[in-house]
Amino acid sequence: MSVSESVKPLFAQIDKLKPEYVNRLAQAVAIPSVSSDESLRPQVFAMADFLKKQLESLGAEDIQLRDLGTQPPPVSDPKLQLPPIVLARFGKNPAKKTVLVYGHYDVQPALLEDGWNSDPFKLVEKDGKLYGRGSTDDKGPVMGWLNAVEAHNKAGIELPVNLVCCFEGMEESGSLGLDELVAQEADKYFKGVDTVCISDNYWLGTKKPVLTYGLRGCSYYQITVSGPGADLHSGIFGGVIHEPMTDLFNVMSKLVDTQGNIQIPGVNEMVAPLTEKEEKLYEKIDFDVDELNLASGSNTAIYQDKKNILMHRWRYPSLSLHGIEGAFSGGGAKTVIPAKVVGKFSIRTVPDMDPRKLDEYVFKFCKEKFAELKSPNSFNVELIHDGNYWVSDPFNEAFTAARKATQLVWNVDPDLTREGGSIPITLTFEEQLKTDVLLLPMGKGDDGAHSINEKIDVANYLEGVKTLSAYLHYYAAGKDSE
Ligand SMILES: [Zn+2]
Repeated sequence: MSVSESVKPLFAQIDKLKPEYVNRLAQAVAIPSVSSDESLRPQVFAMADFLKKQLESLGAEDIQLRDLGTQPPPVSDPKLQLPPIVLARFGKNPAKKTVLVYGHYDVQPALLEDGWNSDPFKLVEKDGKLYGRGSTDDKGPVMGWLNAVEAHNKAGIELPVNLVCCFEGMEESGSLGLDELVAQEADKYFKGVDTVCISDNYWLGTKKPVLTYGLRGCSYYQITVSGPGADLHSGIFGGVIHEPMTDLFNVMSKLVDTQGNIQIPGVNEMVAPLTEKEEKLYEKIDFDVDELNLASGSNTAIYQDKKNILMHRWRYPSLSLHGIEGAFSGGGAKTVIPAKVVGKFSIRTVPDMDPRKLDEYVFKFCKEKFAELKSPNSFNVELIHDGNYWVSDPFNEAFTAARKATQLVWNVDPDLTREGGSIPITLTFEEQLKTDVLLLPMGKGDDGAHSINEKIDVANYLEGVKTLSAYLHYYAAGKDSE
């Protein structure tokens, strides 16, 4: 029997279970598991317990709440415990493939006063949408995996793969402890994992489902210029000393032009050339400049056509100037000459940029530009944090299975997208487990993750459960399955 036939009773079961699914999400949303708020840390723990009970009732084995110790500074409570990473597995049959699914059970902060139309921690169904903090990021998708298991149980259909769950509670606060745990468990709990599926991003727009195969990296730098022993007054020192901020402005202004072109020699040369195959992928993607303008709340786009906008967001590097520490930034007309200023900028990186070479080019360029100023001030440029880019083959086995699942559920070919930002855990899984990773989003581009009135469409939540389920079946059946 073909997969599309064999999942039919499963899909019918999923439709029937809608009230249970909504209720499960409502219970999850009701726990304000905000990881960035120390006073709400007990709630993050309560959410881990909720997951544990859910997993138990669904028949998961080897459920572990992994203690990650105390949270490193800066914290106001030095004994603050990190929430556990919840591990669980369904099945351990060596004859089956093993899929690891990742999600997070913590959420962004939310207050009714911020402009929510209803209590953010009470799930409200209205006009086919489920409103509540975490509904789409990421409690909806996490419940989605539990829902998929429940549907299998109730329909009496065996899970086609061994399913390993890895749910973390610190994603919105830097995923503290996760990298170490994945590395530690690569040959233990995660042994035998064939592929990883992450459902923690969104459709590009609102009409077409997507599969995501790339993320940009980020290298963050700072330039420090200092000279005078203390902040000075321009009435006394203006015009007679070399001012650190003037030096900094001069250097920073040369990094990128107003059309977004990075001016540092060697950087653009490292970018992988555009192939015909890749270029074709952009043509049918559902997106236009209006969506960009809507998202930026302005009419400030550098490019007016879809292809250029998407390529510059996804497959070309960009350089952004972020701020200057130590500069006067209040209202009014303070006549200070800051003694020391620190300029911050970052570069979003793409294949095939080598991060160490990038550092070299950045340092060399900044030092040269500063030397041209012939300033006696002291100057330093350094990398303060970096994370690599990620790109996968969107035609590999996992993506092929997800494409078939999407076609079956949504009756449309998914757009193959990348993202301009990063999801660092993607790379960690790929490197530590030596498997490929699939990003299979559930929610729409207008869900408002991290924003007020976050929602997930009922259709996305339910059809999402079907998509996740069908993906497992197609993946188990192999590349040639139908
Ligand atoms: Zn998320």
